Amino acid sequence: MTKYYLLTPGPTPIPPEVAIKEALPIIHHRTSEFAAIYKNVAEALKGVFRTRNEVYILASSGTGAMEMAVVNLLSPGDEIIVASCGNFGDRWMKIAQGCGLKIISVCVEWGKVVKPHEIEKALKNNPNVKAVYTTFTETSTGVANDIMTIGKIVSKTDAVLVVDAISGLVGQQFETDEWKVDVAVSGSQKGFMLAPGLAFITLSDKAWKLVETSKLPKFYFDIKKYKKSYVTNETPFTPPVTLIVALEESIKFINRRGLENIWIDCKLLAKAARAGMMALGLKLFGEVPCEVVTSALVPIEIGAKIVKVLGEKYGVSVAGGQGDLKGKIIRFAHMGYIGKADLLIGFACLEMVLVELGMKIEKGKAVAAAEEVLLNGL
Ligand SMILES: *Cc1c(COP(=O)(O)O)cnc(C)c1O
Repeated sequence: MTKYYLLTPGPTPIPPEVAIKEALPIIHHRTSEFAAIYKNVAEALKGVFRTRNEVYILASSGTGAMEMAVVNLLSPGDEIIVASCGNFGDRWMKIAQGCGLKIISVCVEWGKVVKPHEIEKALKNNPNVKAVYTTFTETSTGVANDIMTIGKIVSKTDAVLVVDAISGLVGQQFETDEWKVDVAVSGSQKGFMLAPGLAFITLSDKAWKLVETSKLPKFYFDIKKYKKSYVTNETPFTPPVTLIVALEESIKFINRRGLENIWIDCKLLAKAARAGMMALGLKLFGEVPCEVVTSALVPIEIGAKIVKVLGEKYGVSVAGGQGDLKGKIIRFAHMGYIGKADLLIGFACLEMVLVELGMKIEKGKAVAAAEEVLLNGL
C-alpha cells in the first residue's frame, strides 16, 4: 500500500475539512442557501486578491480565466505586449495568437525574470498597445516577476496590466490594487487548496473600459454576464456548486491563519527547500526564485527518472521540467496545504531515489539542511 504525497505546484493537497465539503449532497444554485455561500466567498475573495473590485468565479481551470482576460478586453487586430519567461507566460501568447491580435513580444529566456524596463521601452515604441500580459510566479521555472514595478510603468500609460497569479496568489504577497494590476486571474488547485475546476478573475475600472469596446467573440466567458449575475449572488450558468461550497471552507482556513502569515510560512518553506536542494549539490534554477515552488537542475540522464521513481516507489509526486526543461529540472511545491513535514518527507525520499539512480550524495544532508532552516526560521 502506498500513501500519496502531492508536492506538485498544482494540484496541491486538500485539507480533509475542505475535501469533505466537496462530497456533501448537492444544493441547487438558484436558492437563497447557495446565494448566501456565494456572497460570502465572493466577498472573501476580494480580501485574498487585495482588491476593492468584484472577483468573479468561473467553472474552468485557471486557463479559462486567462482566455477570459483576452477575449473580453480586445478586438481583432489590437496590439498587445506579452512579457513571458516560461511555459505559462507563453500561454498568453498562444491565446492571443488564436484571437488574431498583434503581439509585441518582450520575452526572456526561461529561468530569467521579465525585464520591467523592456516593457517600458516597448510601451514607448508602441503607443497603441492596449494591454500588457505577464505572469506573477512562473510555475514552470520557479521565478517571481516584479509586478509592483511593472504596475508602476503600465499605469502611466493607456494600456492595462493583466497578470496570471494562478500559482502565486495566497502563497506569496500579491497586491492587485496597490500594485496597479488591472486584471488578475487565479485558480482553485494551487494556493486555494481545492480540487481543480474553479478560476477567478477581477478587473479594474480601467479594464472595464476596454470591455465596453471589445469585439472578440465570446459567450460562456463573456464577463458582462458574470458582472450582471454578481448583483444577485449568482453565476450566469450552473456553477460547480460543490467546489464553491468547499471554497467557503478553504477561505476559512486561509483567514484563520491569516494571509500575511501564509506568505511567511511559504517563504520559510522556500528557504528550506532551497537549502535542501543545495545540500545535495543541486544548483537552484531561476534568476529570482519565487516562494511557492523551488526548481533545481538535475543531471539530464536521470531527470525524468527522479520524478517517476519518487512517484512509483514512494508515492511522492513532484514536478519535472516542461518544454525545453523536460528532464533538466525538478520542482518541489510549497504552497497551500503542503507543510514542513511534507517537505522533509519529499527530501528524505529524494535522497533515496538519487542514491538508487547512482548519484554520489550523502544520505540525510538535504533533510538536515532543511531542518536547520525550519528550526532557525527566516
Ligand atoms: C497552473 C498554472 C496555470 C494553468 O492553470 P490550469 O488550471 O492548468 O489551466 C497557469 N499559469 C500558472 C502560472 C500556473 O501555475
